[in-house]
This record gives sequence, structure tokens and C-alpha cells, in this order.
Amino acid sequence: MDLFKPMDSRPREAAAEKKEPEVSEHVKCLILGSGPAGYTAAIYAARANLSPVLYTGMEMGGQLTTTTEVENYPGYPEGVDGPAMMEDLKKQAERFGTQVRFGMATRVDFSGKVKKVEIDEKTLIEADTVILATGATAKYLGLESEEKFKGSGVSACATCDGFFYRDKVVAVVGGGDTAAEEATYLAGLCRKVYMLVRRDELRASKAMQKRVFNTKNIEILWKHQAKELVGDKVVTGVKLFKNKGEPDEEIVHLDIDGFFLAIGHAPNSQIFRDYLETDETGYVITVPGTTKTNVPGVFACGDLQDKVYRQAVTAAGTGCMAAIDAERYLGEFTPSAH
Ligand code: NAP
Repeated sequence: MDLFKPMDSRPREAAAEKKEPEVSEHVKCLILGSGPAGYTAAIYAARANLSPVLYTGMEMGGQLTTTTEVENYPGYPEGVDGPAMMEDLKKQAERFGTQVRFGMATRVDFSGKVKKVEIDEKTLIEADTVILATGATAKYLGLESEEKFKGSGVSACATCDGFFYRDKVVAVVGGGDTAAEEATYLAGLCRKVYMLVRRDELRASKAMQKRVFNTKNIEILWKHQAKELVGDKVVTGVKLFKNKGEPDEEIVHLDIDGFFLAIGHAPNSQIFRDYLETDETGYVITVPGTTKTNVPGVFACGDLQDKVYRQAVTAAGTGCMAAIDAERYLGEFTPSAH
């Protein structure tokens, strides 16, 4: 019998041919994700003797590894380098006995009391509790040309790729804090940065707006939206709608070398959706004031269940809550916890 509900659109024969992996181990607490939520859950779970096993996912360290300076995490008066901070969190989790492993959850079965999680399509872990901290991923506009130029002029991470656009001209899409942050970062490297904003105002905080307005080589193109990217092998320009949907709508062309997306994030909840309640945008719903999902023994923390605050410190806070919720669940329901 197939252990899992089908999670993909493979033809039935192909799915049937796939051999189910053998159960490789049984753990008390399995944590998926290695951002501030996952590592904080691991620190608390390890200190509570839950012997957690944490799988990092593909982006080890989560979104903070794509940031340079983190200035708003309490305890760092001079700010801290994002990747360095995540390395410290990992070490702290390991210090108390967390097994941190590189790997990605590919399927889950949350139907029984013992949860089953397949890693990298080849390892099957059984767990008494699962803490989900898989975070969120940058959104793209969905343009065909955007797909074509990914890695050749299109990026969703200025701090990762900005270096390649030194003294060049780039566009940043979006008007939120991320876009403002990316634009000011890129302005330090690039000759010129255009911000493509679809409305006539920014969503970013006043402090970030001020930074943008005070940066000489940032130009905001209000009420502009990308229509298509232009180029042969690499991006050389972008066609834009100006005043889309209005009587004076027109299409304008902008010469650019790089196109950066900063229009928000989508939660990484795809493989859980057959079991867990999510909202219409895929964020996992938790019982207010807790990290409990609709499945007993499965807890969600960090950006996977938070579309309001989305800060490293709030993610860490909910990671702590998830470990405490898991510990209490084990104490109440699982004989093996005693
Ligand atoms: P966001 O606040 O949701 O802003 C997304 C921006 O992208 C908005 O300006 C939105 O336009 C625009 N947008 C969305 N879809 C678009 C589309 N299809 N075409 C063109 N534009 C589009 O997302 P975010 O900036 O990633 O921030 C997320 C959260 O993290 C926020 O709470 C933010 O405060 C926080 N954050 C904080 C910091 C910091 O404190 N240092 C840094 C980064 C993020 P509309 O305004 O028209 O909707």
C-alpha cells in the first residue's frame, strides 16, 4: 500500500513503479527547516531531551543567508551578518545535541499518530512530533521571459547577485520594505537603480522610504509594471506598462542589465497541503496563540504560518513555542516520552 497520498502529477504507472523507501529511523522530534524558527525550535527541543533531528532544506540557514547586515535582531547593537548569525544558531542547536542534516522533505504522511516524512525521495523517517519551519520563498511575476533569463539577468536576491551588476543599470520590482532594501543595497554597487512601483506610493516603512528618496542613483518609476524582458542571451531591457488600465496607458522601454524581484514571498507549504489547513495563499493555519496545526503532533512556526510579521525575531519566537508545544504534546500523549 502506498504510504503517501500522491503529491505530484506523475502518471499513475510512474507513481506505482516508485519503490517506497524503507523506514530508516524513528525520532521523537523531527524539524524541517533551518531558518531562525527551525534552529530555535531545535535549541529548545534539544534542551528538553527530545533529541531532535533537523533537515535543513535546500537553502541552509533560510532567507537570512541572503541578507548582509541584520540590524534589528535584539542583542546585536552593531548589527550582525545574516549568514554568520545563522551559523551561530546552527552551532547553538548542535551544542545541545541536535542532529543537523542536509536534506529536503519530499513527501509527508500525517494521517497516523506516528508521522512519516520522506527525505530526498529516498529516506523515510518516522516521528512522534514534526515541527515545520520551511519558511517562504521569493515570488516571481510569472512572465515567460522572466523564466528564460533566471540567472542571466533575473534575480530575487540583491545581496546574492548584486555583485555581478557593479556599475551597471538595474531595475527592482516592488514597493515594499524588501524592494526598498534591495534598491538601496544595489545603489551602492550599480550606476543606476530603477524601482518599478505599480501604484503611486510605496508600501515600505517611512524609514526605508526616506532612505530610498535620499539615494541619488535610485529613480522610482511610479505606476510602471513589467510586461516583458528583452534580450538575447542576457537581459538588455524591459518593456513596461505605464499607467496600466488607464486611458493614457502606454508601453515604454527601459535599458537595463539586471532585473530584481522584490514583490513578496510565498509559503513553502506545498507538500503539507493534503493534511494541513492553510489559508487561500498557502500559509499554514495554527491555533491562535500556539503553533498547533489541525493535525495533533504537527506544529508550524516561522514564515510558513506568518504572513504579517515575518521577522527573524518573530520566527525565532514561534520556533521556541513549537518546541514547547511539541514537548507538552509528547508528555500528554506518547508513552515513549516518559
Ligand atoms: P510586501 O510588503 O508584501 O510588499 C510587496 C511589494 O511588491 C508591494 O509594494 C506590492 O505592491 C508589490 N507587488 C506585489 N505583487 C506585485 C506584482 N505582481 N507586480 C508589481 N508589484 C507587485 O513584501 P516585502 O517587501 O517582501 O515585505 C514583507 C514583510 O517583511 C513586510 O512586513 C516588511 O515590513 C518586512 N520586511 C522588513 C524589513 C526590515 O524591517 N528591514 C525588510 C524586508 C521586509 P502593492 O504595494 O501595490 O501591493
